[in-house]
Amino acid sequence: MTETPTPWSAGAAYLDGRFMPIGEAAIPITDWGYRRSDVTYDVVGVRDGAFFRLDDHVRRFRASMEAFRLKPPEDDEAIKRVLHRCVALAGLRDAYVAMDCLRGRPPAGQPYHPAYARNYLAAFALPWISLVRPDVMERGAHLVVAETLRIPARSVDPRAKNFHWADLTKGQFEAHDRGADFCVLLDEDGHVTEGPGFNLFVVADGRLATPDAGVLEGLTRQSVIELAGELGMPVAVRKVEVAELRDADEILLVTTAGGIMPASRIDGRIMGNDRPGPVFRRLHDAFWKKRAEGWHATPVDYASGT
Ligand code: PLP
Repeated sequence: MTETPTPWSAGAAYLDGRFMPIGEAAIPITDWGYRRSDVTYDVVGVRDGAFFRLDDHVRRFRASMEAFRLKPPEDDEAIKRVLHRCVALAGLRDAYVAMDCLRGRPPAGQPYHPAYARNYLAAFALPWISLVRPDVMERGAHLVVAETLRIPARSVDPRAKNFHWADLTKGQFEAHDRGADFCVLLDEDGHVTEGPGFNLFVVADGRLATPDAGVLEGLTRQSVIELAGELGMPVAVRKVEVAELRDADEILLVTTAGGIMPASRIDGRIMGNDRPGPVFRRLHDAFWKKRAEGWHATPVDYASGT
């Protein structure tokens, strides 16, 4: 049976205290959240009617807000209720659920300084989105190491999720110009960091490694570390040299929007047989099997949408 589309079918949003269909959600053009990228955010996934690691995402969101000195009126429990209601209003079983805290503007008469701005929460639920198209999932992503370096962590700490994406966007144009799907950015010392919207694992001789610093401490990365431990695969969180990336047997891209994704080429070099490798397959299958069994799951409160 197909459901009749409603204004909510495309998604539901919450903006500064009000719920609305996604198509009606708009932020003021003068907001510093927009004008200065003065905003932080997080994204949590919903699969088969349940959030994955909801508490961890809201905890990280709070830590990001504190890092940028942002404070919306809602506490963590209120934020979770907003997220449940967005998914419920949109009637989604599989969703991409975002939470943002914007700086706002200082009210009239207050000093023109971010300390006086009225911060507010925005959130929305959309039908599930994956970073990687099905055909790329099938053949493995083609990666390039970009010339562009990641913004230094002392300037913008990547552990606080942010939209200072000029480096990642510039890197994506480099990837595009070189016929690849995604860039990987290095830090000023030549260590591997991350890519546009994902963390990385390199695999060599059956051992996994992921960068320890200069990256978002991704929750999919955390899940892969837990999973590798359960499967008896050695995994290290440490500095990763660019040479390791270029010589890897496999490279995995991991993110909420897609889970665990394979790469098959790096800077034009083919890894394995130009297809997703065995470590990817094992982790990917175990990840989705455990997800189906309710791993780190919080069922969506669909009654909150009525
Ligand atoms: N790194 C960056 C820059 C990201 O934007 C993201 C997700 O959006 C990730 C890593 C992966 O984090 P998570 O697994 O928590 O989604």
